Amino acid sequence: MGRITGPVCRLCRRDGLKLFLKGNRCDTPKCAFERRPAPPGVIQKRRPKSTDYGLRLREKQKVKHYYGVLERQFRTYFARAARGKGNTGEALLSLLERRLDNVVHRFGFAASRAAARQLIMHGHITLNGHRVDIPSHLVQAGDLVRVKNRAKSLQLVHATLSESRREVPDFLSRAEGAIPEGRVDRLPASEDVSVPVQVSLIIELCSK
Ligand code: SF4
Repeated sequence: MGRITGPVCRLCRRDGLKLFLKGNRCDTPKCAFERRPAPPGVIQKRRPKSTDYGLRLREKQKVKHYYGVLERQFRTYFARAARGKGNTGEALLSLLERRLDNVVHRFGFAASRAAARQLIMHGHITLNGHRVDIPSHLVQAGDLVRVKNRAKSLQLVHATLSESRREVPDFLSRAEGAIPEGRVDRLPASEDVSVPVQVSLIIELCSK
């Protein structure tokens, strides 16, 4: 997992959202969130009502855990989104959705974003024919993401694809031949974003 320490299922239960941090296990009845969605701790004890600040912070943490980004990176994305002319919330989520590790995961080449980061960092993925080992690289419309033509790379990705048929979002298209590849047809819009979050709360928090 790398960036996130401690039992990852705890994060889902604390954030009240399936964050899909454990690969294929997340889609099975073994998922800890499905079995017991309540936050960890004493079961009967009710949590104190969150303050406005707490609610906003929780939404931000959800997004950070979901995409696996640290606070400093998140601030960089926010600053870039805020500089643009459009809606800051939509731009922020679009930037996160364009991360190469997210795209590799959404093509179904890796069971989780953490696994996608490993694939990329170990050189199993090429972008427009060139090796790229930066998981935070932002894809562009028209980019071709391809599994490296190497036995180990192909074995890893074929194994993942055969375990789970992940649905590919509208902004991507996947071709499954001997060498799996996928194209970014357009930049992701708000309807392509997979995390259910009230982004306006994040904007209020980060704008202060
Ligand atoms: Fe979250 Fe369930 Fe996956 Fe654990 S198995 S990381 S609780 S979605």
